Amino acid sequence: MMSAALVLVEHASGVPRRACLETLCKARDLGLSPVALVCGADPAAAAVACAPFADRVLAAASDDLERYNADAHLALAARAVAELSPVLVAGPSTITGRDLVARLSARLGGPYAAEIIDLALGADGRPLAVRAVHGGKALARIAFEGSGPCFVTVRSNAFPMSEPRAPGPIESLEAGIDPSSLRMRVTNVEETGGGRVGVTEADIVVAGGRGLGDPGNFALLERLADRLGAAVGASRAVVDAGWRDASDQVGKSGNTVAPGLYVAFGVSGSAHHVMGMDGSGVVVVINKDPNALFFQYADHGLAADALEILPALIEALGE
Ligand SMILES: Cc1cc2nc3c(=O)[nH]c(=O)nc-3n(C[C@H](O)[C@H](O)[C@H](O)COP(=O)(O)OP(=O)(O)OC[C@H]3O[C@@H](n4cnc5c(N)ncnc54)[C@H](O)[C@@H]3O)c2cc1C
Repeated sequence: MMSAALVLVEHASGVPRRACLETLCKARDLGLSPVALVCGADPAAAAVACAPFADRVLAAASDDLERYNADAHLALAARAVAELSPVLVAGPSTITGRDLVARLSARLGGPYAAEIIDLALGADGRPLAVRAVHGGKALARIAFEGSGPCFVTVRSNAFPMSEPRAPGPIESLEAGIDPSSLRMRVTNVEETGGGRVGVTEADIVVAGGRGLGDPGNFALLERLADRLGAAVGASRAVVDAGWRDASDQVGKSGNTVAPGLYVAFGVSGSAHHVMGMDGSGVVVVINKDPNALFFQYADHGLAADALEILPALIEALGE
């Protein structure tokens, strides 16, 4: 019988995180049997979205699972592990994904590697993982000791998506949460980032670098992003300068992104930056230096001042 890989699916408005779907696909590519665990007040839509990439989907519904609750989600995930005895348990490398998988590995006593970017199986059928360390200067290859499940969190866009197949069955998993076991509750979540989609999930990324000259000029990039339904990305230089939050950073020591369209304004195109976006579909580069390195990676390039192009684009796109 094929060993199972359990993926703890994080979702928003019924849409699973890309890293979760990618991990289901990768597990199948490795010859494991991918199983998705989808928890929520109403997990139906996310379960349906996972089914074409999973052999089975376990869906647990409860009001206590509406938002991430460490105690409730941990109890459910531990139950799913006990039922499946998977060789691998994976979650996305998000704040809640890392929290849940770390707690689960501690609860069940298994080895844990965070933010992995590659996965393979050893000759003994045990997972082998790769993660970037020292700010992306080196890659660590990780073998897991023991015989129980190995626990990982996976960066978005680490693995390609496979074609959907006939959907695996969706089975309900009794939530059975004892309210007295919940030691805390999230009572409210306030969205930051103007409701914009995150850089790793977006189909379009508009990125800015030091060439934008001033943190205030990122307002132009945000206006463009709002018109395109895009996420705002950033080079490390502007993150290090405090112009943008680290969650926007694209590159070797930041996020790996793979949108259909990547538009870079005033980014030089260093190898460190390109490593984080070279899986993008169409790449458009606007840089005032016609010899900028980034043009080598561009499908379309414009040697021009980003601060002239941005307002013109925004106006052309209208409200
Ligand atoms: C271990 C390590 C990890 C790293 N990880 C990352 C990473 O994850 N992501 C990352 O991005 N970098 C990373 N870096 C840094 C990387 O090497 C570069 O230094 C950085 O990407 C440069 O950022 P930049 O292109 O915004 O700035 P700059 O190199 O200063 O380039 C600015 C560009 O803007 C252009 N420009 C200037 N004015 C205008 C204008 N008005 N209109 C249009 N263009 C203009 C210039 O011609 C230039 O090409 C890493 C470095 C190291 C050592």
